[in-house]
Amino acid sequence: MMVRLAKSKVAFEQACRVLVGGVNSPVRAFGAVGGTPPVIAFGEGAKITDIDGNTYIDYVCGYGPLILGHAQEQVVTAITKAATRGSGFGAPTEDQTQLAEVLLTAYPQAQRVRLMNSGTEACMTAIRLARAATGRNKIIKCAGAYHGHADSMLVQAGSGALTLGVPSSPGVPAATAATTIVVPFNDIDAVRKALEADKDVAAMIVEPVCGNIGTVPPQKGYLQALARACHAHGALLIFDEVMTGFRLAFGGAQEVYDVLADLTALAKIIGGGLPLAAVVGPAATMDLLAPAGPVYQAGTHSGNPLAVAAGLATLAPLRTSAAYGRLEGLGADLAAGLRQAAAKAGLVAADRVCIQRAGSMLTVFFTAGPVTNYQAARTCDTRAYAAFFHAMLEAGVNLPPSQFESWFISLAHSDGDIRHTLDAAADAFSSAAARLT
Ligand SMILES: *Cc1c(COP(=O)(O)O)cnc(C)c1O
Repeated sequence: MMVRLAKSKVAFEQACRVLVGGVNSPVRAFGAVGGTPPVIAFGEGAKITDIDGNTYIDYVCGYGPLILGHAQEQVVTAITKAATRGSGFGAPTEDQTQLAEVLLTAYPQAQRVRLMNSGTEACMTAIRLARAATGRNKIIKCAGAYHGHADSMLVQAGSGALTLGVPSSPGVPAATAATTIVVPFNDIDAVRKALEADKDVAAMIVEPVCGNIGTVPPQKGYLQALARACHAHGALLIFDEVMTGFRLAFGGAQEVYDVLADLTALAKIIGGGLPLAAVVGPAATMDLLAPAGPVYQAGTHSGNPLAVAAGLATLAPLRTSAAYGRLEGLGADLAAGLRQAAAKAGLVAADRVCIQRAGSMLTVFFTAGPVTNYQAARTCDTRAYAAFFHAMLEAGVNLPPSQFESWFISLAHSDGDIRHTLDAAADAFSSAAARLT
C-alpha cells in the first residue's frame, strides 16, 4: 500500500487558515509525530478512509467511544430514528431514564445518574460534588492523569498536554492549581502522606487504568488501598472511568478490579460516538445536585435524544458476556503478536520496547518498561514512536499520533485485521529499530 495524501495536505492547509492549528483538539494535529494528518472522509466498521481514498485499520476509534466500530448499523438506525423525532427538547424523555437505568445496572452500588455532555464536565461535576459533600477544598490527582481540561485538573495533565510538553497551562490561576495535589500513579504511600499532611482533601480522582500516558494498569491492591486511605481520612474516591467505563467490562474497572468508587465519571462509550457523559453515585451524594440539592450543574444539551439513542444502541450488545471475551481475545492476540514482532526486530532484548495492555486498551511504549507511572512513561523514545507510527500509517494502520495514548480495539476488528496489523508491525519495528541510536 502506498499512502498518498495530496488532497489531505491541501485540505489541512485550508483548515489551518480558519481552525486553530487546523484541529479542534490538540493531539489530532500530528505535532508529536510530524507530517500531515489524513483528512477523514468516512468510517466503516474497523476502518476509516481519508479524502485521498486511503483506507486504514483504525485503532484510534474516536479516542475510545467506538467500541462497536464506525457507523455500526444499530447505532446509525437509532440516531436516524431519534433525529426524525426532534433533536432536543430541554425536557424529560423516557430514553434518558432508560439510559440511566442501564448505567446503574453496570454500577449497582450507585443509585443516581446525571447525564451531561463531555468527560471534562463529568470530572468537573464529580469534583464539585465531592467538595460540597465533604466541605473541603483540595483534590489529589496522579501525575500525567487526564481528567479533562477544567482549570483545577490542568496540573501535570496527560495526553495532549504531555505531548506538547506543557505540564500545566497558561490561563489557569495559580490559586486554582494550588487546590490540586499531584502524586505518582501506583504509589499508595504518596497518597497516604498527602492525606495525612492536608486535612482539607475532599477527594482523590484517579483513572483506575491510566490511559492518557499510554496504557498503565494499576498494581495489585493499589485501587483497594486508595479506597481505604481516602475513607480513613474522610475523603471520597472518584474513579474517572471516562475511558475504562464499558471498555474493560460492562461494569468498567470497578468490576475488573473488584473495587468500588464513591463517585464515577463516565463518557466516551456511553454516548456511542455522540457527545454524552455522566456522573453516577449514591443518592446521598448525588442528590446534592440541583434541583434536588444546592450544588449547581446544568446543560442545554444534557440528555440530548440523539446522544442518548446512540448510547442505548451501543450499550445493548455489550451486556452479553461474549462481547468482552471477544475484545479480550483480540487484545491478547494483538499484544502477543506485537511483542513477537518487536522481539524479532531486536527491540525487546535491547530493552527498547514494552507492550502494556488492559483488555482492549494497549500501548507500545518505546522504553524498557514496565511503565508504572508518568515518570516512567517520560523515558520513552518519542522519535522511535514517530517512526513506528508513520511506518504503520503507510501500511494502512491508523494508530494514535502520540506515544502517550492508548490504542483501542473494537468489536468490528476481525482476526484478519489483527493479522494485517501484525504484518505491518514487523516492518514498522524494523524501521523504528533502524532509527535508534
Ligand atoms: C477523554 C477523557 C476525559 C475527557 O473527556 P472529554 O469528553 O474529552 O472531555 C477525561 N478523563 C479521561 C480518563 C479521558 O480519557
